[in-house]
Formats: sequence, structure tokens, C-alpha cells
Amino acid sequence: MYNQLKSAYEQMGISENVFSFCQKTEENLQGRFEEIDMVTECNQMKVLKAMQKHHLAEAHFAPTTGYGYNDIGRETLEKVYASIFGTEAALVRPQITCGTHALALALSANLRPGDELISPVGKPYDTMEEIIGIRPSKGSLAEYGVSYKQVELLEDGTFDYDTIKKSISDKTKMVTIQRSKGYLTRPTFSVKQIGELITFIKQINPKIICMVDNCYGEFVELDEPSNVGADMVVGSLIKNPGGGLAPIGGYICGTKECVENSYYRLTAPGLGGEVGATLGVNKDFFQGLFLAPQVVGGALKGAIFAANIYEQLGYECVPNSTESRHDIIQAVTFHDPDKVIAFCEGIQYAAPVDSHVTPTPWAMPGYDCDVIMAAGAFISGASIELSADAPMHEPYTVYFQGGLSYHHAKIGIMKTLSQLEKKKLLSIPV
Ligand SMILES: *Cc1c(COP(=O)(O)O)cnc(C)c1O
Repeated sequence: MYNQLKSAYEQMGISENVFSFCQKTEENLQGRFEEIDMVTECNQMKVLKAMQKHHLAEAHFAPTTGYGYNDIGRETLEKVYASIFGTEAALVRPQITCGTHALALALSANLRPGDELISPVGKPYDTMEEIIGIRPSKGSLAEYGVSYKQVELLEDGTFDYDTIKKSISDKTKMVTIQRSKGYLTRPTFSVKQIGELITFIKQINPKIICMVDNCYGEFVELDEPSNVGADMVVGSLIKNPGGGLAPIGGYICGTKECVENSYYRLTAPGLGGEVGATLGVNKDFFQGLFLAPQVVGGALKGAIFAANIYEQLGYECVPNSTESRHDIIQAVTFHDPDKVIAFCEGIQYAAPVDSHVTPTPWAMPGYDCDVIMAAGAFISGASIELSADAPMHEPYTVYFQGGLSYHHAKIGIMKTLSQLEKKKLLSIPV
């Protein structure tokens, strides 16, 4: 079989050097892969149990149109999400256009003029800067009189509890905690760490709403932040929980009050969650959710494989090759724009869709510098599918994520090596 595999990779344009280097690396990862498989297995049962509990049935896949009153598929989907995340309620809708929208919705639905929002975990995700108004922006929370404070992490990446305590005042209505590192090189927080932070904040004032930006974190661990005290967890369906099948959408799972406020903000005061046609996406939402634990497991294996490969080649990886994982993102720092571009080209050339195009850096809306993105996805922009992106500035870190299967993620990484090798930016140890 080894020779057949080698020849199949050869036909994909993978050199013998790259192939044997990758096979050797992979052999040493079997123990870690088994651990991931066990998490997948537990999460698979969690999802299955929720679907059974709420008597998921074929009738729930029927499309609705217009106002979407009595959309039993939508209602059941939201119950299933609430069960999985262990929350009182959930809002899961195709009308939420992306993760940023879900976050903006959760914040603006639950904050009022005069309230204050705190990020106790340093700078939030780039697109959050405009929602909050850190960078002036039309319709930001700042324009509506919501103030914002940010507490930086300590140098070792842990929470600055003293400053967090000092920053909280009577005005503090909500804290926003970003689980994943996003475009930063800080570590991603574990659910346990997030739980400790929430406990600390609730001891100061139990009424403070603790929201977690859960993007890229779903199903990576056995628990979600909502199992350790978060009042709201928020994410995108074209990332982990959509399982690669959801064509659009976002979710907010949380307390009845937080979710209800979000319904009214999403539609209109007085309407709430009773309207919102699903236009036939329910089956994909359910099926994607059902596959999500497996897809996330594959993506995690791909990320671990990537870290092990690039660390051997001398590049800094966050997380590193051995540490435990709390999201599906792998950062690799190149300190070299050409290497970043070659890496992204490799990912693009490994895609099932648009493999014939070459990615180039461009000024993407919501980001304050040029960004290069590699993605050839079935769902446009879906970063649960094999994808890589990098803001084009020092330290030239590329963020790699996804892969609907481990094998595809592996092929992608092998293609990045090939591309770096081809451009003479790297030599593979023999
Ligand atoms: C992806 C992401 C977002 C925003 O999601 P979009 O769907 O790209 O708008 C927010 N926060 C984090 C941590 C993310 O990874």
C-alpha cells in the first residue's frame, strides 16, 4: 500500500521527499489522533442524543417561506442547539449572515445606552473593532452610547485579574471573551480557563452578562463555555457547527433573556423569534451539525500534523506540536511575505473548488491591512473547509484551519511544502 500511496501523491504533484517526510511525521502522531477520536466519539453522542431527545423527524426538513410562522424545523433546530450547548434557549438562523453578524447581534441586543462592555482578554477579533467602535464605524456600539474597556492579558498570556477587578464598575453590563486566538499569536483559551474567568467576574457582580465568542471552538473539547457559566456563546455556521454543510448562518445559545433580546433585535420589537422562514436550509443545518464532531476532529488532526511538520522545519507554531488544542486554528510564523504567499498558494492548489486560481493579498472589508486568503470551498468563505489566511504584516503569520476530512487537510499541508520547495524557499530534510 505504501507504494500505491506514494504514487497517488506523486500524481498530486507531491515530491518523494515531501511524501516520506510527511509519512514519518504522521506515524508519530497516532497516540494524539486516538485522543481526538475519543473526543469526537463523545461529541457525536452528544449531538445524536439531542436530536433524539427532540424527536427530529423528516417533517422538520420541509422548507418554509414568507413570514415563516410555525416553522417546526427551525424550532426543533433551536431546541437541539440549546441541548447540545446546555443552555435555556438558542437562536440559530440563516438570517444571520456570518460570525461577525452573530456577535454584533448578541452585543447590540443586550447592551443599552450608558452600558459598558469589557474585553478582559485583550484585543478582540479584527471585525469586532468596528462593531464596538474601537475603530470608528457607522452603527457601532460607541455611536449608541455604549462604552468599552479592554484589559490586556499578562505577558505569559494569562488573565490580569487585578486590573479586571479594577475595571469593573456599576456601568459594566457585559464582558466579551474570545475563546480562539483569531489573528493573534496568543494562546487560545481552554473551556476550563474561560470557566475560571467567568467565575471570577460573577463573584464581583453576578449580573454581568458573560458572552463568549465561540468561533472555531465548537466540539474541540467535551464541554463548551456555556457548560462553565457563559450566559451566551456565539458562533458561525460556516465554521465548526455547520459541519461544512450549512450554507450560511450563525447561532447564539444562552439564557432565555439574552436569547430573547437577540430575537427582537434580529427581527423587530414585537416580532421576536416567531418569524423567519428557513427556505429549505434546515436539512443541511441538521445534517451539518450531525457531522460537525467528525469534521472538527479531522480539522484538529490536520492542525496537529501541520504544527509537527512546520516545527521540524524551524518555524514557530501556535499551538506548538505537543500542546493541547482548544480550537481548530494553526498559526505558523514565517517572518517572510513570500513564504506566506507560497503557503497560501499550496492550500489553494489543494482545494476541490477553484484549485486553478492563485490567491493574492487584497484589502478586505473589516480588516485594517491587506489580507491573503486561500480557500476553494463548496460554501463560499467557509473556514471549516480547508483554508488559510494571513494579514500581510510582520510577523507574517499564516492561520491555517479546516479540512472537511483529515486526509484533505494532510494533502493541503503537503501541497504547501511542495509550493515552498518549488519556489526554493525551503528544503525538506531527507
Ligand atoms: C471567524 C471569527 C469571527 C467572525 O466570523 P465571520 O464569519 O468571519 O464574520 C469572530 N471571531 C472569531 C474568533 C473568529 O474566528
